Amino acid sequence: MTTLFISDLHLDAEAPDAAEQFVGFLAGPARAAEALYVLGDLFETWVGDDDDDPWRAQICGALRALSDAGVACQVMHGNRDFLLQRGFETRTGCRLLADPTVIELDGERLLLTHGDALCTDDAAYQQLRGVVRRRTWQRRFLDLPLATRHALAGAARAGSRRHTTRVAPTIMDVNPQAVVRAMRATGVRTLIHGHTHRPGVHEFELDGAGARRIVLGAWYEQGSCLEWRDGGYALKELARGGPE
Ligand code: MN
Repeated sequence: MTTLFISDLHLDAEAPDAAEQFVGFLAGPARAAEALYVLGDLFETWVGDDDDDPWRAQICGALRALSDAGVACQVMHGNRDFLLQRGFETRTGCRLLADPTVIELDGERLLLTHGDALCTDDAAYQQLRGVVRRRTWQRRFLDLPLATRHALAGAARAGSRRHTTRVAPTIMDVNPQAVVRAMRATGVRTLIHGHTHRPGVHEFELDGAGARRIVLGAWYEQGSCLEWRDGGYALKELARGGPE
C-alpha cells in the first residue's frame, strides 16, 4: 500500500515543463498508489472554478483520469489556489481537504497542512491571509468578471514577489513554536507540509519522544514526492525528463 504526498507544483501555462512532468506523474507512478495527497499550491493561480481555459481543462482531465482509475486524490488549498471549490471537485473527482487535516496511515497519525499558517513570523502575510480566507471577501471576488479576477491575481503575484525579495528568508520559514503547538494540539509525532520550498526531513524531540517534520519540495526545477509505504517513507526528487 503506497500513499503519495506532493505540493507546490505551482502549475502555470507559462511553465509547461512542470505541467508536463505532473501529467506524466499522474499517468505513471501515481497509478500504482492507493491515494495521492496534494498539500496546496497545485496551481500558481486559481481565480474561480468557472475558468475553463483549455490549459486548466487538460490538468483537470489528467486528475479525472487518475480518480477514475481508482486512486483517491485529495487536494488541500495553498495560498495560491485557495479558491478551488466544488466545481473543481466535480471536474476532477478529487476531494478538497481542510487545512489542517489529521489522517491515519499504517497506525500512525499524520498532521497534514500546506504550511503557510505556520509561518507566523511573517505578520504582513498572515494579515493578508486572514482577509482573503474570509467568505465575504471570496464571494465579492468571485462575483467580478473573469478578466478582472485574472488581472487582480497577476497584481497579487507581483506584490508577493516584491514581499519575498524584501523579507528575510528566516521570516518566511515555519516558526518552531507554531510547529510544536500544532503537533501538540493534534497529538501527532509526524507533520507533513509544503509551502516553504525547502524539502527535507527534520527529526526532533517533542515531549520526550521522537518527532519529525517532513517538508515537501516545489516543482519548479524538478518534482518532489513523499512516498509512504507500509509505515516507512522516502522523500524523493523526481528528475525532469528522466524516467518516471
Ligand atoms: Mn504556498
